Amino acid sequence: MSTHTEQATKQNFHYRCSVCDGQYPITPELMLCPNCSVIPQSADQPPRGILDVVIDKKIKSSANIFDFLPVEQEFFLPMPVGNTPLWRPPLLKQHLEFKNLFIKDDSLNPTGSFKDRASFLVSAFANKHKINEITLASTGNAGSSMSGVGAAAGQKITLFLPKSAPPAKIVQSIKYGANVITVDGNYDFAFDISLEYSKRKKILSRNTAYNPLTIEGKKTVSLEIFNQLDSNVPDHVFVPTGDGVIITGVYKGFADLIALGLSKKMPTIHCVQATGSDAINRAWASGHFSKISANTIADSISVDIPRNGWRTLKYLKEFKGQTVTVSDEEILQAQSYLAQNSGIFAEPAAATSFAGFLRVKDSISKNDSVIILITGNGLKDIKSAMLNVKMPDKHIKSIDELLSKTH
Ligand SMILES: *Cc1c(COP(=O)(O)O)cnc(C)c1O
Repeated sequence: MSTHTEQATKQNFHYRCSVCDGQYPITPELMLCPNCSVIPQSADQPPRGILDVVIDKKIKSSANIFDFLPVEQEFFLPMPVGNTPLWRPPLLKQHLEFKNLFIKDDSLNPTGSFKDRASFLVSAFANKHKINEITLASTGNAGSSMSGVGAAAGQKITLFLPKSAPPAKIVQSIKYGANVITVDGNYDFAFDISLEYSKRKKILSRNTAYNPLTIEGKKTVSLEIFNQLDSNVPDHVFVPTGDGVIITGVYKGFADLIALGLSKKMPTIHCVQATGSDAINRAWASGHFSKISANTIADSISVDIPRNGWRTLKYLKEFKGQTVTVSDEEILQAQSYLAQNSGIFAEPAAATSFAGFLRVKDSISKNDSVIILITGNGLKDIKSAMLNVKMPDKHIKSIDELLSKTH
C-alpha cells in the first residue's frame, strides 16, 4: 500500500458524525463519534454518534459503483457480491395489478443474504489495512456472510451468535471455517460480548452499525437499482428492518446520488418491522426508544435495541419515510404467496418487506414503481417456513394408489 493511495483516500472520503457533524478521517480504530458515543445513557438505548461516510470527490457517473466506496477497487475480492437481479415476476404483477412491481433479489448473493454487501466492504478495508482478523456478533446472516467473504479473502473470522440462531446459519459459518461461539443469551448479549472481544484482542469489529462501513457497504443496493432503472429513482422501496442498517444504507445510496447531482429524487422508503420486534417503528411514533423483548419468527430482524435506531429515525424524518408493522402470520403468508407467484423462496425476515407491501398497497398508486427488497434465502431457516407447511405424511406404494385416491 503506497502512501500516495492513503492520501488520496483521505482526500476523497471522510467520516461525519450523524449527531454533532464532527469530521474525522477514516481509520480502522474509529467506530463511533468519540464525543457523542461517550455521553452517558441507559444501557437499553441505541448507541449515539453513528458515523456517516462523506464523499469529497466529484463523481460524474454511477456506472462504476466502486467509485462510491471509501476503499479502492484493487483491495476488493473478485467475488460476485451484489449486482443482484431486479425483475418483475409476471404473475405477481398480474395478480396484484402493479405493473411496475420489482423484486430486488439479494438472496442471490454468495452466502444467500444481503449482508454480503457490508462484509465485502469490511473485508476490502481490512485487506487494505493489512488486518487479518475480524470479529462480529450476528443473529445469523451477518455472521455467515462475514465467514464466507472472510474465507474467500483468507481472513480469520470470530463470530458470536445467540444460541437460538437457526442451525443452517450456524452450520454455514462453521463450513466456511469461522471460529463460531454461541452465547447463552440473545443477539444483544452476543453484540456486547463481541465488542469486548474486539477491544481486548485489538482486532477489527464488523458489528453492524457500530462499524460505519457496514452501513456504507449496504448503499450499493440503491446505486444498482438506479442503474438498473436506467438512471431513474423508484417511487417506493420496502425494506425489512431490525437494527436499521439496511434501511440506512438504502437511504445513503440514494442520498449520495442526490448530493453528487446525479439524481434529484428520494423514494418513499417503507420501514417494515415485525409486530414482535418493532423498536424503530415504536420510537418513530413516540419519539423515544423504550425497552422491548423481541419475539418474532423472523430471526434476522429480531432485536431488542436497534443499533442504528437513531440514524434510521433521522433519515425517516428527513425524507418522509413510512413505517409499517406486520404480524408473524402475515409474514408466513407473504412468504408462501411470494414463493408461489415468483419462484422466490425468501426467509421470513426477507418476506417481511413483501408483507409490508401487501399491507399498504391500497394506499399506493398502481402506476408507481415499487421495489421489494428480498434480503435472504428461505433455505436459511426451514424451521420457521415449516410453520405453515403441511408435510406429506402418507407415502404411496404405486401410481394406482395415487390415481384411485383422486376419484
Ligand atoms: C440483517 C437482515 C435484515 C435487517 O437488517 P437490519 O440492518 O438489521 O435492519 C433483514 N433481512 C435479512 C435477511 C437480514 O439478514
